[in-house]
Amino acid sequence: MSRSVLVTGGNRGIGQAIAHELAAAGDNVAVTYRSGEPPAGLLGVPCDITDSTQVDAAFKQVEEAQGPVEVLVANAGITKDQLLALMSEDDFSSVLDTNLTGAFRVAKRAVRGMMRKRTGRIVLVSSVVGLMGSGGQVNYAASKAGLVGFGRSLAREIGSRGITVNIVAPGFIETAMTAALPEERQAEIKKNVPLGRYGSTEEIAKTVRFLTSDGAAYITGAVIPVDGGLGMGH
Ligand code: NDP
Repeated sequence: MSRSVLVTGGNRGIGQAIAHELAAAGDNVAVTYRSGEPPAGLLGVPCDITDSTQVDAAFKQVEEAQGPVEVLVANAGITKDQLLALMSEDDFSSVLDTNLTGAFRVAKRAVRGMMRKRTGRIVLVSSVVGLMGSGGQVNYAASKAGLVGFGRSLAREIGSRGITVNIVAPGFIETAMTAALPEERQAEIKKNVPLGRYGSTEEIAKTVRFLTSDGAAYITGAVIPVDGGLGMGH
């Protein structure tokens, strides 16, 4: 049976690959977007996840079109990299507000319907740097590490209702975010990845698909690295 899925930030990059993967699996998939057009074949709902009124409106739109959200993928995220000494408080708090509090806003709204149905799947998109740390990214790494504590706590809170909460920790993936890095930095990164390459958005999408499948029914509170071995040992 097709499920009602919502992917935040599903209009491009990793989120779009996840949305297409779940749609290919037969689910009804909605994606949030802030500007431009949503990807063809998916239900686009306008939503800025830093605004809980917009989050509520987006969920209402999804509920009307395809029923209460049964699978939530909290993927939307931003970076505002800078060395700590030069980082403004706004650059710190806005990254936390989008990446961590944004996930809180959407998970809180999604859990309502999932608790009622006593079933649901939540996947949070974190990052290898949340576990390893990354110079110049104290805001981003803190937000991504925060998702681990958030997800594991939520997994404990709602596991008895048949809802799983898992965290995917991608390494360096071929997207606009990584293409923007200087060539030298890209070569340096690949040297440190045991598999010697960036990952693809499809490789993240397939992992998310598995975590939302029946085969993953007994997996909750897990951090699944999809990083070519970069963060091995966590
Ligand atoms: P992109 O920059 O390509 O896409 C980010 C997405 O998040 C866009 O859809 C964007 O929407 C959305 N978004 C950002 N802020 C908000 C907001 N306030 N409200 C709603 N949507 C928002 O990123 P990626 O696809 O590369 O990354 C996706 C996720 O994966 C992120 O959480 C990122 O941190 C994580 N990640 C990425 C890695 C990589 O190598 N690329 C590695 C590890 C983790 P809009 O189009 O409107 O801006």
